[in-house]
Amino acid sequence: MGSFQQPKGSFQQPKGSFQQPKGSFQQPKGDSFQLLEWIDSHAHLHSNPYAQDLAEVLVRSHAAGVQMILLPGTDLEDSKTALNLALSHPGQGLVVSMGVHPHDAKSLNPDGLRQLRELAIQYRGHPVVAIGEIGLDYHYDFSPRDVQREAFRAQLELAQELDLPVIVHDREATADCLGVIAEVAARRPLRAVPGVFHCYSGSVETAAILLHQGFYLGFDGPVTFKNARKALEVIASCPRDRLVLETDSPYLTPVPHRGHRNSPEYIPLIGAKIAEIWGCDISEVAARTTANARRLFGLS
Ligand SMILES: [Zn+2]
Ligand SMILES: [Zn+2]
Repeated sequence: MGSFQQPKGSFQQPKGSFQQPKGSFQQPKGDSFQLLEWIDSHAHLHSNPYAQDLAEVLVRSHAAGVQMILLPGTDLEDSKTALNLALSHPGQGLVVSMGVHPHDAKSLNPDGLRQLRELAIQYRGHPVVAIGEIGLDYHYDFSPRDVQREAFRAQLELAQELDLPVIVHDREATADCLGVIAEVAARRPLRAVPGVFHCYSGSVETAAILLHQGFYLGFDGPVTFKNARKALEVIASCPRDRLVLETDSPYLTPVPHRGHRNSPEYIPLIGAKIAEIWGCDISEVAARTTANARRLFGLS
């Protein structure tokens, strides 16, 4: 396709002290230039680290080709914040998942679950496209494990009721995650595309089980780290129609920005690493992962 084009619409260089961060990803120049289209399927842009300069972050992300960004909720209040941000920025490609993270499972009571359900029903599809992030985190154990499992189960059932995919956060708890999913699925079969295991860090064998159940796998900045051997094996064996990209901003910043705040504008750095592993052009990674995220979350 033809020559360089500025993205249409409201693109503006922000005023003031904005500077392009040093060493950031740049599209190659020249005749072959093509602005690739990406989706960041997991970025906490509604959190405090972006309170001062969210508009600039969105401009830079859109300029990098990131056309849609999913804001994942972590508790009831945080989910409402994500929802309000998306609603107050129409046309910016922001979509939302609502849910209570395993860290905050102890905060989920019947009234909170009822509010979550009502808001998800009211905004289902626009902009609420998933339930999450939900799951189990036995690394930090910020909530008691039985409470985590109960919150996970209840929100999986909510996702089934609303026919929405889930964003699963699993840290050192895969066996129990699969157990809770099996328990819920025994009562009512999972949807064909049940959701994504975000920031996947497990083995090739576990990945095969999740893929068999229809789940997608999400990969983040750590795939660019030197010690990323296990993730690289999983990516190499992952079907190309089942992988989505995410930054988990503000965390997990890819090389060469590691140590600084993350941003959806770095998604192409993760895509470039996947292209290296798959042995294909980065444009194929952009096209496939974007199509995958659209299919997973029903985005148009
Ligand atoms: Zn997570
Ligand atoms: Zn997250």
